[in-house]
Amino acid sequence: MATTTGPSHAFMSGCTPGADSAETEGVTKFVLDFLMAPPVEPGLIVTLNAWRTVLYRLGLTGRDRHRYGGLAYGNVSQRLSPATGAESASAFLISGTQTGGLPVLESRHYSCVASYDLSRNRISATGPLPPSSEALTHAAVYSADPRVNCVIHVHSPEIWQLRSDLKLTTVPPEVAYGTPEMAYAIAAAAKRESFPVVAMAGHRDGLISCGANVRDAAERMIETLAHALALGAAASPDQE
Ligand SMILES: [Zn+2]
Repeated sequence: MATTTGPSHAFMSGCTPGADSAETEGVTKFVLDFLMAPPVEPGLIVTLNAWRTVLYRLGLTGRDRHRYGGLAYGNVSQRLSPATGAESASAFLISGTQTGGLPVLESRHYSCVASYDLSRNRISATGPLPPSSEALTHAAVYSADPRVNCVIHVHSPEIWQLRSDLKLTTVPPEVAYGTPEMAYAIAAAAKRESFPVVAMAGHRDGLISCGANVRDAAERMIETLAHALALGAAASPDQE
């Protein structure tokens, strides 16, 4: 578990596995250097936020008292280009911790990850609220492939249960979400294949997609959901 030093502070998971998972719920997975700061320019999140609203309406992000202990699930991020004033190519915007259940986000719900160190399990971020607890996994994907400009994490029982039939790259169940091990596993998948949709067997219903832009990443996930629904319907033709 990460330790707390100096200005860093640990925070609780924004997304926990189901009760039948072997994972411990709500465990801090990285050290966060966090500085409170005003929201980013609303214009920076317009496209990301529009697609994030679509994901919410599809139930791919949200909050359900019957799932994951009632905690919010799902988060989205977008790489910041130097044109937006980012200090480095590794900077990205990410939805804040426990915002997955809100129908529509505003710029005050986003955090800016300025830098990260995967090997030291550290993240530096600024904003009105801390970044998603899965920010390290997002960071790993950006680090693995410079062509990736958007990373999306959702929960979908329909896709996750059919991950083998859908031939999704799957991170084995012993790899706990939010850890450097998960980050490296996702990064390895991103290096092996272009813009994969990855299932996390140890993070119930958990999936990651990425893309060259926001639409690309979102459409990959939505298309995968359509494939899962088609497979499910084919397996149960009597259902209406
Ligand atoms: Zn999750």
